[in-house]
Amino acid sequence: MTIPCRVLMVYPKFIPNSFWNYTEACELVGAKYPAAPLGLITVAAMLPKHWDIRLVNRNTEPLTDADLDWADLVMIGGMLNQQPDFIYLIDLAHLHGKPVCVGGPDVSSSPHLYADADFQVIGEAEQIMVHFIAAWESGERKGVFIAEKFKIDVTQSPMPRYDLIKFDHYLFIGVQYSRGCPFTCEFCDIIELYGRVPRTKTNDQVLAELQALYDYGYRGHVDFVDDNFIGNKKNLRTLLPRLKAWLEERDYPFEFSTEASINIADDDELLQAMKDTNFFAIFVGIESPDPETLVQMKKKQNTRRNIAECIHKIYGYGMFVTAGFIVGFDTEKISMGQAMIDFIEETNIPVCMVGLLYALPGTQLTRRLAKEGRLHKGHDLMKVEQAGDQCTLGCNFDTKRPLRDILVDYKAVLGHVFSPTAYAGRLSRLAVKLDRSDRRRDLPDGDMRKRLGGIDSVHGIMRALPEVREPFWKTFVEVAKTNPAALRYIVMLMALYMHLGPFSKRVISEIDRRIAELDGMHPVRATASSARARSLDATGNNHLSNEQVSAVNS
Ligand code: SF4
Repeated sequence: MTIPCRVLMVYPKFIPNSFWNYTEACELVGAKYPAAPLGLITVAAMLPKHWDIRLVNRNTEPLTDADLDWADLVMIGGMLNQQPDFIYLIDLAHLHGKPVCVGGPDVSSSPHLYADADFQVIGEAEQIMVHFIAAWESGERKGVFIAEKFKIDVTQSPMPRYDLIKFDHYLFIGVQYSRGCPFTCEFCDIIELYGRVPRTKTNDQVLAELQALYDYGYRGHVDFVDDNFIGNKKNLRTLLPRLKAWLEERDYPFEFSTEASINIADDDELLQAMKDTNFFAIFVGIESPDPETLVQMKKKQNTRRNIAECIHKIYGYGMFVTAGFIVGFDTEKISMGQAMIDFIEETNIPVCMVGLLYALPGTQLTRRLAKEGRLHKGHDLMKVEQAGDQCTLGCNFDTKRPLRDILVDYKAVLGHVFSPTAYAGRLSRLAVKLDRSDRRRDLPDGDMRKRLGGIDSVHGIMRALPEVREPFWKTFVEVAKTNPAALRYIVMLMALYMHLGPFSKRVISEIDRRIAELDGMHPVRATASSARARSLDATGNNHLSNEQVSAVNS
């Protein structure tokens, strides 16, 4: 007998002040948010066909009382940066008398924070959802389902339910090819959640997912959300030629981006294959200019190489690089701030995610710091009222260097890297090296990024941020003359500055506040020690009462 069930899937709001929330750039092309909730639509595909599913992404649309009242079951999934809203939503669903099932990376890393949920799915959902479904259908209303780590066969992962998303809400759509990464970076939670042996989907599976997107009429930017796209090079080498043929047959409906380790620069054949398959951007974790620090964080793949040369080589294949940098490691020296600035300038990377070291739940770093007695209490709890990411909340442990020195260095790096002149300078130098000469110029019809790239977009950016007018215009004119094939990407990166410029200023002012606090100039800000300490409303705002902010969390 089939038992019907109305499932409301809710994707929690990301914390507002995050590096990656570049909603200003989204608005420029009419989108609402950068990425669609790939994890939830993949889980949706694991549910019985006769279940009725509704998806609400709280980052793009409101969650109404009517949605909650409609549901028999509320399913919520998300990451650390969604934690405050995630926990709020559990309480909200309960207020409406609805049972809640939770899952995703933050639940898997910190299940104790989600103990109020009726069901927890811990680890990768494939193959354990059947146990949850059986339990639900047999009338059970509580349970914890734990996947055996790193054993999930991703070739069995179903086709995500792309029919549940509103494509025009997003700047890009995610597709996953692999999970896991072979490296050992101490601060990384990927290898704890997905293991060190990358598992890939089959080529047919990936092409079927892209075909589904194509058939839904989607055109434009597709991001391979893999932890490390080149983690299993052997399999990847068999995918890329097929992907190339698939693209050619359909007149290149998609452009791709992904994340990969720096050793991609050692492999010309792979870079050429990625160029041939229309990749235009790669995120690379660079972390630090200091070899000793790279060794300490167990990121040996970044040592014994000239990183700037590696990055420039990638530019030569027509792909620009965005990169992650971290301040706050034990082995950092006094000169670190200037060294990082020089390093970033040398690489010509415009978009640098420079954050403070953050001890993520379940990582080697967190285990070491706990053993050394250096981990701060509540290190895994995102504080609602501080609402930031690793840029503002990082160093959630006792640092080896004086914290004040780290914060001063960090501020100096941000202040330089995101000054309009420095940013525009890196854009100009990137344009010199970004070889787009034998790539297609036109984006496919229906690609919302077509609205970006022309002079109107640049005027829009300059109107929004008058301080960029002079350097950005100079860069635009220069690139239009010398490398018009790269112009679209340079304007795209200018659009990101609409978020990054004001964001870096907000981070700097928060770092100033932390420095003043260390200097004893301000009282420690009162924070709530418990995510439970919130009053609730269905409009999505979390309210703290005076009593609730009385607990002080250092
Ligand atoms: S290369 Fe990236 S994904 Fe791999 S272990 Fe290091 S930080 Fe994690």
